[in-house]
Amino acid sequence: MTKAYEELCEAARQWHHLESVAHLASWDQETYMPAGAASARAEQMSALAAIVHDRQTSPRIGELIAACEEDADLMSDPSSPQASNVREFRRDYDLETKLPKELVEEAARTGSQSQQVWKEAREKSDFALFEPWLEKMVDIARRKAACYGWDSVDGEAYDALLNVYEPGLKAKEVERIFTPLGERLAELVARLGSGTAPDTSILGTEIPAGAQHEFGLFVLEHLGFDLSSGRLDTTTHPFCSGMASGDTRLTTRYREERFTDALYGTMHEGGHGIYEQGLLKAEHFGEPLGNSISLGIHESQSRMWENAVGRSREFWTWALPHAQRILAPALSGATVDELYRAVNTASASFIRVEADEATYNLHIMVRFEIERAITNGDLAVADVPVVWNDTFKKYLGLDVPDDRRGCLQDVHWSFGLMGYFPTYCLGNLYAAQLWETIHEQIPDLSGQISSGEFGALKEWLNANVHRHGRRYRASELCEMLTGRSLSAEPLLRQLEGKLAPIYEV
Ligand code: ZN
Repeated sequence: MTKAYEELCEAARQWHHLESVAHLASWDQETYMPAGAASARAEQMSALAAIVHDRQTSPRIGELIAACEEDADLMSDPSSPQASNVREFRRDYDLETKLPKELVEEAARTGSQSQQVWKEAREKSDFALFEPWLEKMVDIARRKAACYGWDSVDGEAYDALLNVYEPGLKAKEVERIFTPLGERLAELVARLGSGTAPDTSILGTEIPAGAQHEFGLFVLEHLGFDLSSGRLDTTTHPFCSGMASGDTRLTTRYREERFTDALYGTMHEGGHGIYEQGLLKAEHFGEPLGNSISLGIHESQSRMWENAVGRSREFWTWALPHAQRILAPALSGATVDELYRAVNTASASFIRVEADEATYNLHIMVRFEIERAITNGDLAVADVPVVWNDTFKKYLGLDVPDDRRGCLQDVHWSFGLMGYFPTYCLGNLYAAQLWETIHEQIPDLSGQISSGEFGALKEWLNANVHRHGRRYRASELCEMLTGRSLSAEPLLRQLEGKLAPIYEV
């Protein structure tokens, strides 16, 4: 191992230690911090972020990466751990250093003002109020894209932003996968609309938060989330923070009149947590090899446990008696079939964050088409509401009544987060495609889930997805594991196969 490589890894370990302290402070802020500490905490986090940024972008790091790249021995096998680390260190360094400091500051300043205006505009359902600020944020996003650059032959500005969250992925490729998904899913949702919706009254049973918490911990532990190296706490906006080796924090929130919100929220974050715990952080802390591959793959892990496992008949076959015991006396008369049907509804609605497993993807299509067009300069910001409503009608079949329930509902664009939405849908697609392969390789998976045995599934994910860290691109990993490039077919097959019989269509 060369000296430059060792110095590079050591520097990265040091700034990752600082980052994990920042994550701990942020977790505390979202869970237990007294309200009075808010302004001190903001100062602490910004001081820490500045130190981390200085270290990540120091010219010395650039020199070390260049020295490694020139080392023929170190780089001789491009998929070796060392060469993969160097390639990914280069990617991170370029992303961190390509934006001029003034642009980063302008984005932060304008973004926080814009977010305030967005809040007011959403409350008043007044797009005109937000329009000049969205204009500014789109302009900043376009300038960022220009700094990052994109493939001038076969690419577009939007690719540069998408690449930040889903390395190497291009908008054209997203379009290739999303187009058939959007068309056929819209048809399926319309068809379900003419069927019989399942009775969901069982989900309205009041259950105290304490009992829900106990059940959440019980489920997490059985899925394979290691609670001796993790926690589950309560927050307003649930998240998972894999802050360090042996320390993965999950959060959830409880609604006493809808226990499945917390259950599926906990299983979702638990899926992220099992991924974080499966990364080789002890061996590769601070190196790309000890880190997650992309947001899409991260989301595939949460969606798989939440939807493929958690919304299956097999899951409820195992879980119902335990739910009846822990949540007693609620659910005492419930049947597996009743719960299975109640948690698998699909109907078009206006708000993305409240959407079900199937229609959620259509909400993402709407956002992808619009943010791609405004980033590439193909759509004027002033035309966003009209195009939003048309696109929404095309996919979800509904007439948007006002901008509050239309293009103003999400916070993301207000602070310039563009290129991020597709990762939510990619997560569902990767999860569905992996799920078919896992079924082929663990033929008894259904039987195992019915008896609460999740070990083989977790070990498959550990061995095939988690332990590689960032060694491969998400698309390569997908082809390697499933033998095919990512496609809409597995997700469509699974949604249709499950929902059509439930709705009797
Ligand atoms: Zn997630």
